[in-house]
Amino acid sequence: MADIIDGKALAAKIRAQLSGEVAALKTAGITPGLAVVLVGDDPASKVYVSMKEKACADIGIFSDEHKLPAETSEAELLALIDRLNRDPRIHGILVQLPLPKQINAEKVLEHISPLKDVDGFHPYNVGRLMVGKPTFQPCTPYGVMVMLREYGIDLTGKEVVVVGRSNIVGKPVAMMCLQQNATVTICHSRTRDLAAKVGQADVLIAAVGVPEMIKGEWIKEGAVVIDVGVNRVGEKKLVGDVEFAAASERASAITPVPGGVGPMTITMLLYNTVASAQGVATPSPAGL
Ligand code: NDP
Repeated sequence: MADIIDGKALAAKIRAQLSGEVAALKTAGITPGLAVVLVGDDPASKVYVSMKEKACADIGIFSDEHKLPAETSEAELLALIDRLNRDPRIHGILVQLPLPKQINAEKVLEHISPLKDVDGFHPYNVGRLMVGKPTFQPCTPYGVMVMLREYGIDLTGKEVVVVGRSNIVGKPVAMMCLQQNATVTICHSRTRDLAAKVGQADVLIAAVGVPEMIKGEWIKEGAVVIDVGVNRVGEKKLVGDVEFAAASERASAITPVPGGVGPMTITMLLYNTVASAQGVATPSPAGL
């Protein structure tokens, strides 16, 4: 039976450390500030934004909320970002995606100062990650790497299989694993014989968005399984991309959904914001 990789407990531990870092910054006259920009009223985005604001408040980060109407123009949003880029109280800027269709999201993300890009989505930071000199690392993949480290899972020489190649999860996590000396295979919707690829993984990272599409029987005996997927099934139930019960029978360690990768994402956003306020995106304030 697999050990459970407890993202909730790890997130709580890191947040407690960050809370101390924030207190130290405040003593030095600096309050870390995160601007959170929400355009429109997408219900899921509203929930994410309020979770992020609460997480900031819990550890003493100033969260500067900007809730704009759905009909906001691209020029208005870019003007707001200009102001936030210049505002010395703000150390991180987060624009919640998706944006309404009249706004070009790529243009907006590229407008955020790379030095305040705590989501790690600006091409400058994406490029830095690619060359192994990350400044701000994108929060979900960063959270995955911190979990692996906390649980003593050394990637050197391991076969890592990443299922999913999105810019926010699959590609960056693959790059981070490569940096940690893994041999990395990236799979996607056109991959042939996914089951065989998954079966080679010493460490499987699933970021697909299809409920339980990775079958427990595909998993190699003793593999580590990181399930990034969050899929709503029915009214209330959340499941991952991996068949959890069957995979637990074969894996040596596995992340649950919920309570695995999810809580780490916002934690790494807080971490990046604190690092920005300290003027050191790397190395890390909480020793991560
Ligand atoms: P995307 O939809 O952007 O990417 C999904 C990827 O999965 C694509 O690369 C796609 O391939 C691939 N894929 C889709 N179907 C298959 C299939 N049948 N076989 C193999 N590959 C397939 O999703 P995200 O990366 O944004 O998110 C992935 C999951 O992670 C979602 O469940 C999301 O909710 C969750 N998530 C969780 C977060 C957290 O904090 N825990 C944060 C971010 C995401 P192709 O490129 O060929 O289309």
